[in-house]
Amino acid sequence: MVVEKEERQIYKYRYFAAFLYALIFISSFQLFQILLANPTMEDHGRLLPVKMKAIKTSDHEDELQKIILDANKNDDPISISGMQHSQGGQTLYPNGILLDMKNYDKILELDREKKLITVQSGATWADIQSYINPHGLALKVSQSQNIFTVGGSLSVNVHGRDIRNTSLIETVESFRLLNAEGNIMHVSRQENPELFKLVIGGYGLFGVILDITLQLTDDELYQIRTTSLAYDEYSSYFTTNVLQDDAVKMHLARISVAPESFLTEMYTTDYYMTEDQTQLKLHSILKRESLIAIPKFFLGLSPFRLCGVQIELCGAQIDFGGTQIELCGAQIDFGGTQIGLCGAHIGLCGTQTFVAINVYNPGTLSSIPSGKPVGNAHLTPASSSR
Ligand SMILES: Cc1cc2nc3c(=O)[nH]c(=O)nc-3n(C[C@H](O)[C@H](O)[C@H](O)COP(=O)(O)OP(=O)(O)OC[C@H]3O[C@@H](n4cnc5c(N)ncnc54)[C@H](O)[C@@H]3O)c2cc1C
Repeated sequence: MVVEKEERQIYKYRYFAAFLYALIFISSFQLFQILLANPTMEDHGRLLPVKMKAIKTSDHEDELQKIILDANKNDDPISISGMQHSQGGQTLYPNGILLDMKNYDKILELDREKKLITVQSGATWADIQSYINPHGLALKVSQSQNIFTVGGSLSVNVHGRDIRNTSLIETVESFRLLNAEGNIMHVSRQENPELFKLVIGGYGLFGVILDITLQLTDDELYQIRTTSLAYDEYSSYFTTNVLQDDAVKMHLARISVAPESFLTEMYTTDYYMTEDQTQLKLHSILKRESLIAIPKFFLGLSPFRLCGVQIELCGAQIDFGGTQIELCGAQIDFGGTQIGLCGAHIGLCGTQTFVAINVYNPGTLSSIPSGKPVGNAHLTPASSSR
C-alpha cells in the first residue's frame, strides 16, 4: 500500500514536471515570435538598444537593391551594419530597416602582379588575410584587430599603426556604391571623385558600399622595440627615431593613465624591418585566436549584479568590500598596491615599471597590430627597452 502511494506521488511529480516543461517550451516559442516581430538591435558597446522595424540581409546585389527600393517606397530609413563594433549605437535609426551586410562577404578577385584585391563589403580583414597570405601579400592599413568588415572600416576611414599609410582611404583604389535611389555607381579618384571623399568616413550616410578594390603590399618580417620616456621627450624621439629611420614601419605610443604619472610618462613601440628577411617563411603561418568562448561569456555578463556586489567589465570596476579591480585602461588596487592593465603601470612599494601589454608572438595573426603590412606582418619579440 505504502509503495503504491509513493509511486503515485512520483508520477504526480513527473506529470507536473512535464507540464512545466511544455509550458516553458511553448512560452519560449511565443517569446521568440514576439522578439522576431519587434527586433531590437544594439552594437557591441551595448549602450543604446534600438527597436528596429526589420532586419534584412542578402548575399545578392539585386536583392540588396530591392531592399533599398522597397524601403524608399515605404519611407523607411535604412541603417547599415557590418560587425557592429562601432561603440555607441548611434548609427541605428529607430523603427528603420537594418541592412546587415555580413553575408555579402565574397572575395571577388586577386591581382597578384598589381597587388590589388576586390572584395564584397561584408568580408572581414581575417577573410582577406587567409586568402592573401599564401601569396606572400599583406594588408596595408587596418585596425589593431582583424574582426571588422571592410565596409564598416571604410565607412569610418580607419587608421592602423603604419605611420606612412596613415588611414584606409590611402589604400582604396575604387568601390561600387548602391545609393538611396537604388542605383549602382562606380566611385574612384577619377569617377565620381566627390563621393570618394564623402563615402570613405561617411558612416553609411551616402549609400551601401557593395565591393571594394584595395591595394596590398608584400608580407614583411618586423621586430619590436619598446621604449619608455617622459612625455616631453616624445616629439624629438618621434622625429629622430621614427620618421628619420626608414627601417621603422609602424609605431605606437601610449601615455600613462596611472595616478602617479598621469599624462607625464609614456611608452612607445616601434616595429622595424628585420635585417634577415629569409626568416619570413618560418613565421608566415597564420594562427587563429583560441579560447574565445570563455572570455566572451564573461564579457557578456557586463554589467552584471550579484547580491549587491557589482561586477562591470571593460572600463568599469569590480568592487568586493572596498577592494577595487578595474579592467581595461585602469588599475587593480589591493590596499595601496596598484596593478594597471592595458597601458597603465604596475606600482609595487613605490617602484613603477611600465608593461608593454602588447606582447607579440612571431606569426600570431590575432596578436599582430595594424599598419603596413597589417595582420600578415610577422613580428619577433621586443628587442630593447630604455
Ligand atoms: C577592439 C576594437 C579595436 C579597434 N581598433 C581600431 C583601430 O586600431 N583603428 C581604428 O581606426 N578604429 C578602431 N576601432 C574602431 C573600428 O574600426 C570601427 O568601429 C569599425 O567601424 C568597426 O567595423 P564594423 O565592421 O564593426 O562596422 P560597424 O560598426 O558595423 O559599422 C560602422 C559604420 O559603417 C557603416 N557601414 C557598415 N557597413 C557598411 C557598408 N557596407 N556600406 C556603407 N556603410 C557601412 C555603418 O552604418 C556604421 O556607420 C576599434 C574598435 C574596437 C571595438
